[in-house]
Amino acid sequence: MGGRQGTSTIPPLKSHTRLVGDRVGTTWLAGGFSLPRVICIANQKGGVGKTTTALNLACAVSVAGQKTLLVDLDPQCNATSGLGHRPDERHALLDTRPLRESFRETYLPNLWLLPGARSFEDVDALANSSDSRSVMLAAHLAGSLGSFDQVLIDCPPSLGALTRTALASASEVLMPIQCEYFAMEGLAQMIEVIRQVIGRSNSRLEFGGILLTMHDAALELTAEVDREVRDFFGEIVFSTVIPRDAAAAEAPSHGRSVIDYAPRSRAARAYVELCQEVLERV
Ligand code: ATP
Ligand code: MG
Repeated sequence: MGGRQGTSTIPPLKSHTRLVGDRVGTTWLAGGFSLPRVICIANQKGGVGKTTTALNLACAVSVAGQKTLLVDLDPQCNATSGLGHRPDERHALLDTRPLRESFRETYLPNLWLLPGARSFEDVDALANSSDSRSVMLAAHLAGSLGSFDQVLIDCPPSLGALTRTALASASEVLMPIQCEYFAMEGLAQMIEVIRQVIGRSNSRLEFGGILLTMHDAALELTAEVDREVRDFFGEIVFSTVIPRDAAAAEAPSHGRSVIDYAPRSRAARAYVELCQEVLERV
């Protein structure tokens, strides 16, 4: 497969947690405040299933009883519209008001949304942020999440300031990989950025795992990508795979997760299974 040339340049990354230090999912701060688990869904490649995973996993985790926030950091605002909401005029992260004033209730009682914004001014301001601004924005975001158990951040398809901000505020990164010909290409850069963020003294980021998406067991190509990704990354690859299933693509137009839109579909069952795996991995 085409990714084969790419894999030789990917830095080794074999264990799914404890890459640095001895950190665990929840971080306790002086005074007894805890930071929630913050899962950043990132891959600079477009269309690999980041938003579909962020939205469905957020819904599944909230239904499992966890107070959950879905943060839309992508100017495409697909996670926002996929939950049946309109984007904000300005992204709350760039506003002076407390972030919590922008949290919106959703159709699920345990799930809140921090909507995205499409405004060019905001996209420019966020996309061209310096690294130190990203760290400041990340601190602003992380500082407003204390009332949640789990936070999921949907990232844009880039390695720019928005993804760096998300990584800097996260406790783990989940990377969806689409089972296609160029699956592993470009991953070296992504992993290098993750390593840079992990290496910062104030970061609690760990590598949460790799998820195979749009998996079609009948295709030889899928089997090949599956084998190659598991051989290379080992245990950090989730055993759950997300099948290619039209229900997953239809659900956002109904403003629902696939779990609510088509509970018996293969995609719905896979996201519930992924949720169990994610909750077990703390
Ligand atoms: P972008 O990089 O543009 O943000 P993304 O990585 O967020 O894209 P998605 O928007 O989640 O990717 O998915 C890309 C397209 O594939 C969408 O049209 C989505 O509905 C569809 N899709 C995602 N997962 C599946 C699936 N399991 N089966 C079928 N279609 C899917
Ligand atoms: Mg997306």
